[in-house]
Amino acid sequence: MTALVYLEQTDGAVDDPSLQAPTLASSLAGGTEVHAVVAADTVALAPAGPLPADAVHVAVQDAFGSYAPLAVAEAIVELAGRLGATSVVGPGTERGNEVLAHVAALLDLPLAANCLSVADAGVTRVRWGGSLLEEARVDAPTLLLTVQPHAVAAEPGAGDPPSVETFTPTLSDAALALRVVERVGAATGGVSLADARVVVSGGRGAGSEEGFAPIEELAELLEAAVGCSRAVTMAGWRPHTDQVGQTGTKIAPDIYIACGISGATQHMAGCKGAKRILAINADREAPILQSADYAVIGDLHEVVPASSAAIRAARSG
Ligand SMILES: Cc1cc2nc3c(=O)[nH]c(=O)nc-3n(C[C@H](O)[C@H](O)[C@H](O)COP(=O)(O)OP(=O)(O)OC[C@H]3O[C@@H](n4cnc5c(N)ncnc54)[C@H](O)[C@@H]3O)c2cc1C
Repeated sequence: MTALVYLEQTDGAVDDPSLQAPTLASSLAGGTEVHAVVAADTVALAPAGPLPADAVHVAVQDAFGSYAPLAVAEAIVELAGRLGATSVVGPGTERGNEVLAHVAALLDLPLAANCLSVADAGVTRVRWGGSLLEEARVDAPTLLLTVQPHAVAAEPGAGDPPSVETFTPTLSDAALALRVVERVGAATGGVSLADARVVVSGGRGAGSEEGFAPIEELAELLEAAVGCSRAVTMAGWRPHTDQVGQTGTKIAPDIYIACGISGATQHMAGCKGAKRILAINADREAPILQSADYAVIGDLHEVVPASSAAIRAARSG
């Protein structure tokens, strides 16, 4: 049994959800041998450091200098065929799911997305933004699945480092029709929402775009990323890149500070990976209090500035 795991990487560093995918791949029945594949436009971008795989394959093509999901999928399909892979696994990120969906279309096979675990009989996967766990049987000669981010821990490679081999996949002309041609950085102050250890979010309770000033101030003091609810992005107070939730970013910080957010299911789908939730809300009946570890009942426009002042006072004293 051979599992082929697609690893996303940025500038030669493998992203966290991709490091978690081999853990699930190696739990597949039958003493599975795990091969990993990365796509890069130069061999120099072969991932550095130990990886939880027996072998790493670097698919090298100019097209991989930017995100080109169909091209990456064609490379994966080529390699999977050569290895005789019995499963192809990817991270359940936006891009991981997109690439694996192309793999599924190319192979005309089903894809089980956002899986938590696999067993002989099938997979358990997250549906409906996390409000449902589905047990599904997959009838296919090759099992295609993605792994729900932060559902399993990344395990460092044991034993010898994996061998690294490069190959130049054959790509169709059509594969290059879909690719990123320009990237515009978001003005987030440097802390990425998806990876932040602390996230301070604001909801409709912030009241306005300007109402985010105390939330930004607290975030800066805590070296946190700023997030928000969809009510906020719909109002145009913050960009969609800041949105936490089912249709936003999934986060897994050590602490999530939710200010003026009611805790709708679709919002909680994005922050249930948080180790601790602190809710600041004027309404003691707000649904988020059912999920919160700590709560402050009060007006965020008083509580948040007072918290920042207390942190400053403690640090200067
Ligand atoms: C298909 C679909 C996908 C969706 N995806 C997402 C998603 O990805 N992310 C997301 O967030 N939502 C999503 N939603 C929307 C979601 O259902 C909610 O409408 C949204 O999360 C509500 O945002 P909110 O909590 O900021 O606003 P509200 O529900 O209006 O809550 C505001 C909260 O602020 C409190 N408040 C008000 N004033 C203050 C104050 N001065 N101080 C303290 N507290 C105060 C109130 O008590 C209340 O609890 C989705 C909905 C659908 C249908």
